[in-house]
Amino acid sequence: MAARAARAARLEQAEEILERGEADFVGAARQSLADPDWFRKVRLGYGHLVRRCEFTNYCEGLDQQHKQVTCKLWDRVDVDAPGVRLARDGKRRLAPPSWTPPKADAP
Ligand code: SF4
Repeated sequence: MAARAARAARLEQAEEILERGEADFVGAARQSLADPDWFRKVRLGYGHLVRRCEFTNYCEGLDQQHKQVTCKLWDRVDVDAPGVRLARDGKRRLAPPSWTPPKADAP
C-alpha cells in the first residue's frame, strides 16, 4: 500500500493521483481542516461552495506554537454566535460554521 502526501485541495487532483497509480489513497488534511464538509459538498453537487485551503501555513504555525489548531478561513467568523466554542485565547472558534445543504439534498 502506498500513501502520498500532496497538496490535494481538489477532488480532481486526488483522483488523478489515484488513476496514475501513484498512491493507494490520498489524504487531504489541510483541505479537511479548511472545510470539513468538502467531500459532502462535492458529492451533493455543491463543489463550488467548497472553502478551499489556501496553504497559508497559519494552522501549522499555531501547531508549532502548541496552540489549538484552527483555520484562518473561518476561525474569526461569527465568534459571538450562540454555542460557538472558542480556543483558549478566546479569539478564535474551534470549529467552522456549520453547513447544511438545501432541504431537497439533505441526506
Ligand atoms: S489555515 Fe491556511 S493552510 Fe491551514 S487549512 Fe486553513 S487555509 Fe489551509
